[in-house]
Amino acid sequence: MTETSPLPRIAIAGMAIESSTFSPHRAGERDFLRIEGGDLVTRYDALREGELTDRAEWLPVHYARSIPGGAVLPEVYEGIKTRICDGLREIVADGGRLDGLFFDIHGAMSVVGMDDAEGDLITAIRDVIGPDVVVSASMDLHGNVSRTLIENVDLITCYRLAPHEDTWETRDRAIRNLVEALESGQTPRRAWVRVPILLPGEKTSTRVEPARSLYARIPEIEARPGITDAAIWIGYAWADEPRCHATVVVTGSDGEAAARAAEELGRAFWGVRDEFEFVGPPGTLDEGVAAGLAATDTPYFISDSGDNPGAGGTGDVTWTLAQLLQKPELTADDAPVTLCASVFDKGALDILRGHAVGDRVSVEVGARVDSGPHGPVLVDGVLHSLHEGDPDAAGIAVIRVGGLHVIVTEFRKAYHDVSDFTSIGLDPEAAQIVVTKIGYLEPELYAIMRGWTLALTPGGVDQDLERLGHHRILRPMHPFDAFDVAPDLSAEMLG
Ligand SMILES: [Zn+2]
Repeated sequence: MTETSPLPRIAIAGMAIESSTFSPHRAGERDFLRIEGGDLVTRYDALREGELTDRAEWLPVHYARSIPGGAVLPEVYEGIKTRICDGLREIVADGGRLDGLFFDIHGAMSVVGMDDAEGDLITAIRDVIGPDVVVSASMDLHGNVSRTLIENVDLITCYRLAPHEDTWETRDRAIRNLVEALESGQTPRRAWVRVPILLPGEKTSTRVEPARSLYARIPEIEARPGITDAAIWIGYAWADEPRCHATVVVTGSDGEAAARAAEELGRAFWGVRDEFEFVGPPGTLDEGVAAGLAATDTPYFISDSGDNPGAGGTGDVTWTLAQLLQKPELTADDAPVTLCASVFDKGALDILRGHAVGDRVSVEVGARVDSGPHGPVLVDGVLHSLHEGDPDAAGIAVIRVGGLHVIVTEFRKAYHDVSDFTSIGLDPEAAQIVVTKIGYLEPELYAIMRGWTLALTPGGVDQDLERLGHHRILRPMHPFDAFDVAPDLSAEMLG
């Protein structure tokens, strides 16, 4: 550190998207929200009002994030990478001092033609900042930790809850670990264990066993002397890349203790591999509808899980809508209210904008991007409402076909919160059935749900992994393969 400023100088940069390589969606410029300057610093609780604010000089560079989708277009990725690298280059130009980097990523970004996007990004960053800057990465537990990534960071952690109610807490922890490492002058060592398991998030929620108990081991491990952080990645099941698998990393000044703890967690994970089951009662769509119609305590939720945009689904798969429209028990005029969220289709929205609310409409919707499971579907009903200005969807139309309320959006949007429905005048609590493109229910929907089927529907994030067909993941992999011999779960030490 120089005499001029005793404080460590820490840059902030990152890029986050969860991309299904089984989804035909391509993430483009419009998908990414960019944050720079003071907004990037105050984005983090720890740096807005926390006591970490004054313990370093914070240098916001660039952060880009998108809701999950398909692979990122190469030119869009390269543009963001260049922006990040240029910003860092400016900081270190002419001998400018940089001590740390907070690297805020998801970990399951795919870029067309690339196998390890986060590995590529951190390699490019290292080329600019050199090997000595201490890098602390914060990730989603559905991210992947490749060798390139783990070799190029000094600290790394991820969420401990799924659904991710601890996203900000996790980022704050990554920032705190970085500040403390710089203040102490001690960079921890990393113990990395690859666990040959690849499971969907819907089987690994920490709300239920065995993930709940597995993650509950972390605080005790973290409290051990010489340990800084312990993290377990479930990994990302909907990309067909060699880096997709579960991982454990324990960091600490005591390399021996870190290795022991990482192996302990790796073995614990492996030991419960056969116990992971779907968090919601799984079933077919037909089973969900039958249960929903029979339910006396409502609303009954049906997860249209194969096309969950929150995991990388396109959001315009029509397979489920097509089935629902064929059910007179839903489409009769006296049928109970079923909300169906959603398909996006800009062309359909433009047609619907030419009508008045209350008009009889007949419009083909969906399957413009992902037509694999089913083609566009003709919706013949009454234009129930029209809305403009949604931050994600832009325009939204609701078409009523008997009791079935079909939500059509202009752009991709996930219906994962109560307000997503109420903001367009639909009350999920008053509905008999709510069908939405989601996997496990996010907290708000979980709180109002009185019954639930996790429908195993087709799409880019099909929960039936073997139906998707992975070709490039490492084998053997549980549950794809039988293991004749136990896998090597020994920790590899880095740093
Ligand atoms: Zn996640």
